[in-house]
Amino acid sequence: MEAIHIPRLIHCPEHTQTIEFKTLLENLKTLTPVQGWIKITHQGNFLEVSAKAETIVTLTCHRCLQQFNHRLAIESSEMIWLDETADQLEELPLDRDLSMDDLVETLPPNGYFDPAAWLYEQLSLEIPQRQLCEQDCKGIEVVDEIKNPGIDSRWAALQTLKGHLN
Ligand SMILES: [Zn+2]
Repeated sequence: MEAIHIPRLIHCPEHTQTIEFKTLLENLKTLTPVQGWIKITHQGNFLEVSAKAETIVTLTCHRCLQQFNHRLAIESSEMIWLDETADQLEELPLDRDLSMDDLVETLPPNGYFDPAAWLYEQLSLEIPQRQLCEQDCKGIEVVDEIKNPGIDSRWAALQTLKGHLN
């Protein structure tokens, strides 16, 4: 998916470009290609971006460490402000307090919109913080506890010693 030169959108019908895709995204490890569509509309002083996409990712369960497949789907939209000073935002002085305006996505009006990078961000945000293979995953089975219920492993040495004494 190629980056879109923003001024070019004005020449598209209804100032809109829609891209259908089935592609692998750089930096996002997916089991299946990311499939869906993205629509970018030039609204004068902002871009309106909406998309629907899905893919399958392999995650590692946080409790039992087993790998499992997870369907990742997004249906999102965002407004990206077009601002001449967008390029300079990267160089914000660290000692300055950030205002809300700094947190809104902006692009220079003569710059490029990168649909693949945008989709990557949206999909990454959808990856669950809490990754469980199933809701009631029991975690890693501790074999010792199952064989000797009730005996704390720290007492195992004493248990052996007791056996010797007997
Ligand atoms: Zn699990």
